[in-house]
Amino acid sequence: MKKITIFLSFAFGILQLAAQHSHQSEHALTYPNIDGYVTLKTDLHIHTVFSDGNVWPTIRVQEALRENLDAISLTEHLEYQPHKADIPHPNRNRSYDLALAEAKEHDLLIVHGSEITRSAPMGHSNAVFIADANPLVQTKAEKAFAEAKKQNAFVFWNHPAWHRQSPTGNPILSDFQKELIKKGELHGIEVINSVDYNEESLALALEQNLTIMGTSDIHGLIDWDYTEKGNDRPITLVFAKEKSLESMREALFAGKTVAVYNSLLVGKSEFLKPLIQASIEVVSSEYLEDTQVLEVQLKNLSSSPLLFENAMDYGFYSSSPVFEIQALGSYTLRIKTLEEKESIDLKLKAIGAFTAPKESPVVSWKISVDK
Ligand code: ZN
Repeated sequence: MKKITIFLSFAFGILQLAAQHSHQSEHALTYPNIDGYVTLKTDLHIHTVFSDGNVWPTIRVQEALRENLDAISLTEHLEYQPHKADIPHPNRNRSYDLALAEAKEHDLLIVHGSEITRSAPMGHSNAVFIADANPLVQTKAEKAFAEAKKQNAFVFWNHPAWHRQSPTGNPILSDFQKELIKKGELHGIEVINSVDYNEESLALALEQNLTIMGTSDIHGLIDWDYTEKGNDRPITLVFAKEKSLESMREALFAGKTVAVYNSLLVGKSEFLKPLIQASIEVVSSEYLEDTQVLEVQLKNLSSSPLLFENAMDYGFYSSSPVFEIQALGSYTLRIKTLEEKESIDLKLKAIGAFTAPKESPVVSWKISVDK
């Protein structure tokens, strides 16, 4: 008996080690790949004590590993350094260096970034994929953006609808931003920042052809600000040819993204539709005995609860036309096809997903009825 106990505790120890090695928590995020692309889970707007955040950079890496993210960027405010008296750091790459060292043994990409921080009308912008943060410290905002461009950085406009810079809570595209766009110095825009989804910012993204971004802008702990409240942190899904910094950078410049916050998914139709398509697996489909009622089992392969509305002519049996499939959960649909079919096109409107303000895509799945 004792031997068995020892063996069991040994085996348990090994299991624990294996679990520790992956560092994933029960809130690890997962989203399927889409045709031709790998889906990278990224958060490119994060703070630490090296600007106005409250944690050391290593904690950001550990949080990202727990959530199974593929890439993060620590984007310290270049111009706002409230902890400077306690943590002087003339080298503005310090936060990045510490994160890079912490992530070394892991499959987490660390993107070098900084936040260019100005009052309105310039606002806040993140420059990511920079080579060196130090030359971005400039008296004139124009010079900071020019330097970011010189370093081939991908630059996006942060929380354009922030009420402290825009009291209506709507973004104001200033002459400054128009000029940046014209000069090729601004490439993306946050449509989800922290808990705020801003559809006016989505309209701007589409109108100005800016990449759609979603970020946590975390200053405290992910666990306290999001997880404990039953939320996942907002992220940007980037559809890249492969999991590498260069491939990710390319995809961001090409606008291949979907911003995600819980059940909310925002992106261009050409990426959002395939993502939802791939997120639902049809597990089985068969007629209830001696009826023309088709029972279909669906499985959600993503970490977002998916909200749908029936978009077919067929009605549902014992099911609301509006329904939710929980994150990684299953759902049974009963469809009244009126006659026995060999296959049908399941068509659902994804009402938690937006390709434009107030516009949700209809996604379809070809279902072959099981014999
Ligand atoms: Zn920020």
